[in-house]
Amino acid sequence: MSKETYAAWWDKAVGGFAPQTLAERAHELGRDHGGDTASWVIDGNTSEDFCRKVIEGYDDGDPEIMDMQPAALDGQWADAPTPLHIRQALGIENAPSDEVLDAYEEGFSEGYWHTVIQAAYGKLPEYEPCGVCGFYGHKPKDHD
Ligand SMILES: [Zn+2]
Repeated sequence: MSKETYAAWWDKAVGGFAPQTLAERAHELGRDHGGDTASWVIDGNTSEDFCRKVIEGYDDGDPEIMDMQPAALDGQWADAPTPLHIRQALGIENAPSDEVLDAYEEGFSEGYWHTVIQAAYGKLPEYEPCGVCGFYGHKPKDHD
């Protein structure tokens, strides 16, 4: 993952303004769900080799790695969110628009990969977290 991508992530994570539009709220909701979904991917038993493979594969856009991410909305497991869940979570009357669903899916992907990649870095002794924000994948000077 590029440094710019992490910086963009961080700006959004601590940008300091409450989300305003429905799409922005859907994006945030997706990011939370994606992060939750990813939290089991790398655990105490995950090998360092696998973590390296994930980091490299993600950087390269390797389909074998990218396919790890479940679809945000296809209901492939029991607790998977559906458009109805999104509608309820956002407190809206009608079915969410494509724009809102797209924002959700984009957020889901962002949250999923952020969580997986940070966990992968965290398992590898050769990487140090950024001294400013505690995330991996960039240097403190990138915050300037
Ligand atoms: Zn940082």
